[in-house]
Amino acid sequence: MAVPILITAGVIILFVVAFMVLRMSSFIRTVPPVEPIEPVSVDADRVAQHLSAVIQVKTISAAADREPFDREPFAQLHQLLTEFYPQLHQQLDREIVGNATLLYTWRGQQPDLKPVLLVAHQDVVPADPDTLDEWTHPPFSGEISEGFIWGRGTLDIKSQMLAAFEAVEMMVAEGFRPERTVYLAYGEDEEIGGQQGAKQVVALLQERGVHLAAVLDEGGTIVSGVVPSVQLPVALVGTAEKGHLSLKIRAEGTPGHSSMPKQGTAIGRLARALTRLEDDQMPVRYQALTDLFRGLGAAASFSMQFVIANLWLLAPFVRKRLEQSAEMNASIRTTTALTMLRGGVKDNVLPNSAEAIVNFRLLPGDSIASVCEHVRRVIDDEQVQFEPLENASWEASPVSPTDNPAFSLLTHTIRQVFPNVVVAPYLVLGATDSRYYPVISDAVYRFSPYVLTGSDLNRMHGIDERLSVESMQKMVVFFYHLLQHWTGDAL
Ligand SMILES: [Zn+2]
Repeated sequence: MAVPILITAGVIILFVVAFMVLRMSSFIRTVPPVEPIEPVSVDADRVAQHLSAVIQVKTISAAADREPFDREPFAQLHQLLTEFYPQLHQQLDREIVGNATLLYTWRGQQPDLKPVLLVAHQDVVPADPDTLDEWTHPPFSGEISEGFIWGRGTLDIKSQMLAAFEAVEMMVAEGFRPERTVYLAYGEDEEIGGQQGAKQVVALLQERGVHLAAVLDEGGTIVSGVVPSVQLPVALVGTAEKGHLSLKIRAEGTPGHSSMPKQGTAIGRLARALTRLEDDQMPVRYQALTDLFRGLGAAASFSMQFVIANLWLLAPFVRKRLEQSAEMNASIRTTTALTMLRGGVKDNVLPNSAEAIVNFRLLPGDSIASVCEHVRRVIDDEQVQFEPLENASWEASPVSPTDNPAFSLLTHTIRQVFPNVVVAPYLVLGATDSRYYPVISDAVYRFSPYVLTGSDLNRMHGIDERLSVESMQKMVVFFYHLLQHWTGDAL
């Protein structure tokens, strides 16, 4: 009896392993090399001077409900743009949307082709006054030294705006005329939600019946040593971004004197609800992770690809490991973050209510409704109520395709301009202006064409934000070639 059972078990195991190896085959493909190009020549010093001048203009976004909109710095920035890019301003139509958002139209020769759009933003976050003396060069100095341009907006993201301007200016000067229309849109308030900028641009284009073949906004960069088991630098192209939901959670209790506390205090109830939410997280889904690794192909290690391709079987064994990394955890689930807490006025008074804010970042596939349902089920207490904070919720974006010409041409351009880089789609964990664009385009990509090293990540919104002159030059080269690829009829 035992021998046939052993043989049967052996055969089954053999089949399972064969199936697992087969599943991996699409993950370990090698990407064929791209033809190298002769990159267009760009005057790095001139471009650095332009970026430096633009960094010196303090276009800091300010929430309308707190401070009135200060038009002056934006007007100054617009003035610089018209000085630096005279031919562009002659050839393209410029509109001001919202208060100071820029929308340029470069008309294509074939009006029946769907247009493309390049997006970034003019605004920057302020520099924390407490850290000013820690900056090597002041945050709005635009200092050019040690091979870098220093200051707010070099990484996030005046560089991307200017690189596109430089490329278009060069192309116009060369007499280039795009086949399809190109829009350039630069918001004034991305850092505070994009209500005046991107949202209005989308409304305007939608009103005009525009549907875009492709959009490129800021987003992922070229990173090294970030993706597990990958040695080569990886260009992470955001194909989707997470949604956002902040819930105000409020617990009621019986008020009174703390010398005779009754059962079920507001703070106790709230604490229990919050602990439950932290302990019982939203379910895990691996789609973004598998898309990433499928894109990486043979650039990831064999063992890693074996695991990722077979999460259907191996997930229970690797889940804990994945959850231990904050980035990985955020890529595989809607996260739950307890961010604010309020309750009580005096040490000897039982408050009648206590409140907390819990911030969720929604994975594509989850919805605001499904998260609320989860919260209701997990808290399971009728005396704990919750509601979304006003203007702080939006759904996760749709996932843009990677099997279309727009993505292939984008990938191709990245690999032409940055040899030895592997390109892969990923899920953007934060929020950008891109979330407004899916209503007018099915192909929205989030990528900033520069190399980001480990320490640079903390500089973004932090101290000593800077971009190398060489990186800035390469960004211009990238946009020059991308525009050639994206404006033709191959798209
Ligand atoms: Zn940004």
